[in-house]
Amino acid sequence: MNTNKFDVIVMGGGPAGSSIAGILAREGRQVILFEKEIFPRHHIGESLMTDTYWTFRRLGLLEKLKQSPFVRKYSVQFANAAGKESRPFYFFEAVHHESAVTWQVTRAQFDHLLINHAAEQGAVVHQGVLVKQVLFEEDRAVGVEVQMQDGTREKFYASVVVDATGQAAMLSNKFRWRVRDPKLKKAVLYSYFKDAHREPDLNGGATLVLRTEPGSGGWFWYIPLENDITSVGIVANPDYLLKGRGQDLAKIFHEEIEKCEAVRRRVAEGTRADKIYSILDYSYRSKHNAGNGFIIIGDAYGFLDPIYSSGVLLALKMAELAADAIHDAFNHNDFSAARLGQYQAKLDRGIESMRKLVYAFYNDGFSFSGFLRKYPDERVHIINLLIGDVFKEGVDSIYGPMSEFAEIPPPLYEQVDGTMVAQTPTPEESDLLLSAKYLYYDDRAGAPESGD
Ligand SMILES: Cc1cc2nc3c(=O)[nH]c(=O)nc-3n(C[C@H](O)[C@H](O)[C@H](O)COP(=O)(O)OP(=O)(O)OC[C@H]3O[C@@H](n4cnc5c(N)ncnc54)[C@H](O)[C@@H]3O)c2cc1C
Repeated sequence: MNTNKFDVIVMGGGPAGSSIAGILAREGRQVILFEKEIFPRHHIGESLMTDTYWTFRRLGLLEKLKQSPFVRKYSVQFANAAGKESRPFYFFEAVHHESAVTWQVTRAQFDHLLINHAAEQGAVVHQGVLVKQVLFEEDRAVGVEVQMQDGTREKFYASVVVDATGQAAMLSNKFRWRVRDPKLKKAVLYSYFKDAHREPDLNGGATLVLRTEPGSGGWFWYIPLENDITSVGIVANPDYLLKGRGQDLAKIFHEEIEKCEAVRRRVAEGTRADKIYSILDYSYRSKHNAGNGFIIIGDAYGFLDPIYSSGVLLALKMAELAADAIHDAFNHNDFSAARLGQYQAKLDRGIESMRKLVYAFYNDGFSFSGFLRKYPDERVHIINLLIGDVFKEGVDSIYGPMSEFAEIPPPLYEQVDGTMVAQTPTPEESDLLLSAKYLYYDDRAGAPESGD
């Protein structure tokens, strides 16, 4: 038997890769996963949406999460630029099931849990192994070449290769399929505070989204984590956050905190306990989710502005949709792009529902409270979107009434006419971020297939 031959090869062991590996292994497929890092490793993306519950259930992971120290999240709350706070949107207002509660997760621990769980389900998991390239026979992916920890190269073969390489997006970059959202481009600074303010009871686990001053195109996240740590980050227009403000990112970060009263008074109770991390984030989507012999999931397929914490949810949903398509491909012995990519229209509808809500938020003057004063019955629909129920029929009926308050965009592909836009930051943005002492900026996007 050729020990380098599997049913499925997964590249990348973040939430998308570990979930699909776990699901497929649990459901009887021979799976091998390659992750270039050795876990635990830092990653941003800590607030989950409650609909992740259903993927955790399929993975058999719920008990482990219930026993974990992760903080329980019951709601999301917004504050406007003047610091006026909305009523919390409790998920149990719309969902009468234990899935109405989710978790705020330290990603180093969460991703470690997921990758170990994939191994326990029977997937062969390699950490510290970099995928150098996907191997093709004509236009069909047939395997990968990897660099093992000792530097040697090896080839592995499978009927399906799954690209779950996150923003490195190996295959959509290779084929130049990435379409960048023309408006959603932000700079991000974030860090962690010890003993910052925490509300009592249910509200202690809420994600807070606090708008910064008008014209900044920005907001702070405030996410309570375990061990009295709180994740605090600002997302804003790069011109506002970086231009003409020098290279000291810690200084900029603390200046922004001073300007935002709702954040200032909360973090004043604690102390910063980590370095400043910086990211340039561009929303984008791949024109295709599959090719012959391969499938693309998670951030490797698309990334949407993090305002509603939809990234991990979408990664997990894509893992499930792709796993179903892969089973179908094996059942028909047909690994064509058409069969593997069969769910793209449904997926894009769901992502577009969320994207419209993102655009609404960035409309100057838009507030959920103002919208709900006129349309109180829409509250439940907003909660449905905030829990991540984006594939539900009719979930975007809300955008009729909402268009009175905010500009709602046409679908991404129509908007930019399917043109690939390079993911590279301007030289000025690069200089600023690259000169920062602590850097968490991955500028490999657009690089050739090497992945390193
Ligand atoms: C500022 C910001 C805030 C966010 N906040 C949230 C939030 O609150 N909630 C939320 O749900 N989401 C959030 N997100 C989004 C979230 O981080 C991502 O959507 C999520 O991590 C996607 O998971 P993934 O598995 O697709 O990719 P990743 O988690 O990035 O995993 C990809 C993995 O692939 C590995 N890899 C890459 N290339 C190779 C290679 N060649 N060989 C082997 N391995 C490779 C990487 O090491 C990595 O571990 C946020 C994102 C940003 C930028």
